[in-house]
Amino acid sequence: MASINDNYLKLKAGYLFPEIGRRVSAFAQENPEANIIKLGIGDVTEPLPQACRDAMMKAIEDMGDRTSFKGYGPEQGYGWLREKIAQNDFQALGCDVSPEEIFISDGSKCDCGNILDIFGKNNKIAVTDPVYPVYVDTNVMAGHTGDANEKGEYEGLVYLPISANNDFTAEIPSEAVDLIYLCFPNNPTGATATKEYLQKWVNYAQENGSIILFDAAYEAFITDPNLPHSIFEIEGARECAIEFRSFSKNAGFTGTRCAFTVVPKNLKGKASDGSEVEIWKLWNRRQSTKFNGVSYIVQRGAEAVYSPEGKAEISQLVNFYLENASIIRQELTKAGLTVYGGVNAPYVWVKTPDALSSWDFFDKLLHNVHIVGTPGSGFGAAGEGYFRLSAFNSRENVIEAMKRITTTFNFA
Ligand code: PLP
Repeated sequence: MASINDNYLKLKAGYLFPEIGRRVSAFAQENPEANIIKLGIGDVTEPLPQACRDAMMKAIEDMGDRTSFKGYGPEQGYGWLREKIAQNDFQALGCDVSPEEIFISDGSKCDCGNILDIFGKNNKIAVTDPVYPVYVDTNVMAGHTGDANEKGEYEGLVYLPISANNDFTAEIPSEAVDLIYLCFPNNPTGATATKEYLQKWVNYAQENGSIILFDAAYEAFITDPNLPHSIFEIEGARECAIEFRSFSKNAGFTGTRCAFTVVPKNLKGKASDGSEVEIWKLWNRRQSTKFNGVSYIVQRGAEAVYSPEGKAEISQLVNFYLENASIIRQELTKAGLTVYGGVNAPYVWVKTPDALSSWDFFDKLLHNVHIVGTPGSGFGAAGEGYFRLSAFNSRENVIEAMKRITTTFNFA
């Protein structure tokens, strides 16, 4: 019999969202008349921008004509898209990022996991707690951890707790770690990072020869002009950081699939013989071997994000979700709850009232007001006592959900 990758057996995962689903369907079965509003999942609800749809329609026509038909494209993505990204997302901010350093993919989730292909097995890896679970689970699958303890923490990972006590920004570890995952604006807490804070991480990474894996999937939600959009706005980041970006949340591409990863050519890692190797070369090799590129049609859709029409539509979409977040913050505060995030981010991170556990608060909202959120403890042990509400929903649902909470509860 073929043997399997035993690391998969260590995974605690598949627990959070299936458990939410189980509790919601049990409740719905017993209460078929309840109009349940789901503010739990981080999926967008508003349609694709017209500019992207028009570009994709045109691309379909290109595919129907022998002279403009496209077969396999470059594994790294088409030059015209990589150039637009380099100009608009980086060079316009004064960041030194070239088109060759941008690798187009079908999603940041895949890139966050796939990047581990090019790193060794003996790295010390740090994640925040709570955290986007993909960073942890992909390291478990790759065999970079031991088993999980009763709190769900995997042996071998360095957990950096984030809470209201440190403004949901992890303290720089006293020990040296090799890889650090940072996500700003943060999922799940909605926290943001200042340039000064990121500079501390870059300095730490440079001193210790570490690499920062910077997830900027929610970068478009930053409206504060003082906050950085990219790690490459920070001096020295080209020597110590990789950045993940996605069209999922700014342009509604969660179902269309397009993202990109920036790997600077200056970034180096160490081979087992002690020699220094360019990380860019390894990632380029990995993508050329294991990936055949994103569909031409989808890349044309992503390109339209940078057209004047696309930019205007995307800004409207982002503002729409940010207004939802603002309504959620305002109404929950009225109901006597303490809320964090939701200002330059689409997630509102709520302190559970009356010392309720995350799951008890989940049940309270589901049973009393038929609202589904995500228990903070599902994102890590330090998320216990918190609850995530997502601003990705229709205005009608957000208003109705908040009305139910403010008219039913007073937690003050
Ligand atoms: N990174 C973070 C922090 C996310 O929250 C998500 C999706 O929820 C992703 C990456 C996944 O993005 P994509 O749709 O590009 O795979």
